[in-house]
Amino acid sequence: MPGFDEHAQQRLAQALKAEARRLGFDACGISKAEPLDEEARRLEAWLKAGYHGTMYWMERHFDKRIDPTRLVEGARSVISVLHNYYQPVAHDPSPETGKISRYAWGDDYHEVLKEKLYQLFAWLEAQVGEVHGRAFVDSAPVMDKAWARRSGLGWIGKNTNLINRRMGSFFFIGELIVDVPLPPDGPIPDYCGTCTRCIDACPTGALVQPYVLDARRCISYLTIEHRGDDIPPELQEKMGNWIFGCDICQDVCPWNKFKYATSEPRFMPRPGLPDTPLERWEELDLEAFRQKFRKNAVKRTKFEGFKRNVRIALQNVRRDTLQTPE
Ligand code: SF4
Ligand code: SF4
Repeated sequence: MPGFDEHAQQRLAQALKAEARRLGFDACGISKAEPLDEEARRLEAWLKAGYHGTMYWMERHFDKRIDPTRLVEGARSVISVLHNYYQPVAHDPSPETGKISRYAWGDDYHEVLKEKLYQLFAWLEAQVGEVHGRAFVDSAPVMDKAWARRSGLGWIGKNTNLINRRMGSFFFIGELIVDVPLPPDGPIPDYCGTCTRCIDACPTGALVQPYVLDARRCISYLTIEHRGDDIPPELQEKMGNWIFGCDICQDVCPWNKFKYATSEPRFMPRPGLPDTPLERWEELDLEAFRQKFRKNAVKRTKFEGFKRNVRIALQNVRRDTLQTPE
């Protein structure tokens, strides 16, 4: 960009981060828009091993996934943002409750984050004139964790989540890819150390080695992405009472002691999502499902998937009740 020297870029980056905070993002970092070579190799090996299960969409647009200039012509910078969704409300501890991952307790994050990213984009245009770019929230072939890591917002932990030293891992990630040159922040070290709590706690053994998730064994994948009734019985038994997602490997992570309450009211829990008994979820009909999960992430599993998850959880609870000695 003509007349846009290094100092001007530094000042703009600082002001951009302040504006991101003002809009409600909890962190903002920048990386240079360039091919993700190392991450591409890892993604390729992961796909080759079949760990993505039936998420065939992950195989598509591989070239775009690893190169931001294929998504935005002339891209110079990737601006990553984190948005905390942690709500200071516990899951109901009863085994008869249908457990929903806390990221899905409030309004659909895609809409909330996109709205704020568009505002950040408009702010950037107001500073530098017309900007060519796009906003992404888990919705296009963008490797959001890889970009957030490169932007210094955290490291990818052994549980494969991005972890931030100041807030743990209960946040959403979004990006702006723009043709504005900005100073990159650079990655930070991995602070997992010798800890293996997530690997030890995973009920299905989905973390097949540190930093490697076999999604086909992961309760999140099985309850959200996997369609059909062909979940192997040995995995069904280990799904417990999770009916949408799973928070175990985040709940046990010591870095989540730094979690704090979200400032976004739209991420607060909708009534009933942290504590409805499975038998009540079993009664839900299609119309009630649509109403309850309108503008909410749970709708992704579709009515049939949700009912299947409730059926499996009820089987698990009934089996465990029978096995409990008097
Ligand atoms: S989300 Fe649950 S099932 Fe998946 S890796 Fe983490 S602990 Fe294991
Ligand atoms: S539980 Fe331990 S090993 Fe797993 S992501 Fe957190 S710090 Fe890393």
